[in-house]
Amino acid sequence: MKKMPQVLIVEDEPAIAELIAINLRHNGFAPMCAEDGASAQKLLEESVPDLVLLDWMLPGGASGLELAKQWRSQSRTRQVPILMLTARGDEPDKIAGLDAGADDYITKPFSVQELLARIRAVLRRRAPLSVGEVLKVGELQLDGATYQVTYRGEPLKLGPMEFKLLSHFMHHPERVHSRSQLLDQIWGDAVYVEERTVDVHVKRLRRSLGEAGAMVQTVRGAGYRLSATPA
Ligand code: CA
Repeated sequence: MKKMPQVLIVEDEPAIAELIAINLRHNGFAPMCAEDGASAQKLLEESVPDLVLLDWMLPGGASGLELAKQWRSQSRTRQVPILMLTARGDEPDKIAGLDAGADDYITKPFSVQELLARIRAVLRRRAPLSVGEVLKVGELQLDGATYQVTYRGEPLKLGPMEFKLLSHFMHHPERVHSRSQLLDQIWGDAVYVEERTVDVHVKRLRRSLGEAGAMVQTVRGAGYRLSATPA
């Protein structure tokens, strides 16, 4: 039998949490609920779910945004997809959330069908690195077990979006990716993000890569490519 995907629901409104949990259970998921960051953290320490549904506005301590950042920075939870639930709809918040490492957004109120579609899309899109997979392009190396990126053996420090971008590039070296393809594959087609957001993150990625930054090439009028032979 196929394992039911575990979904951790972090939501302080019991009625909403319960409604989501019931619907997920009916659709083949195994939901768990936490009403705030502290109890979510506790559950995460027991087991790492396949996906986290994270409410933006939470009582006390940490907001959803802070939790997303925190979980992205911990090796245990770094790779868990995060779908944020928010009552806000405006663009700066979305960018802030995606920068913090969220995979997608859903704005309240949403229909159950919409939520299920988003969850499935996020799970599908997150083709995770298989454990122990090591990607190499030239002297750049990305280790799927430790989430470490090195260039000529020297470790590099990357933000969560930069890591995702690089991982995508390294899975498809030498291939040109258009901005809209990158948006679709890294940020998700359901999210409204402008194409210049891609440019911002590519710029950050280059900076984080230091000397290896030249491997991330701009292909005029087409997009970006990671090449083992810097131009
Ligand atoms: Ca809330």
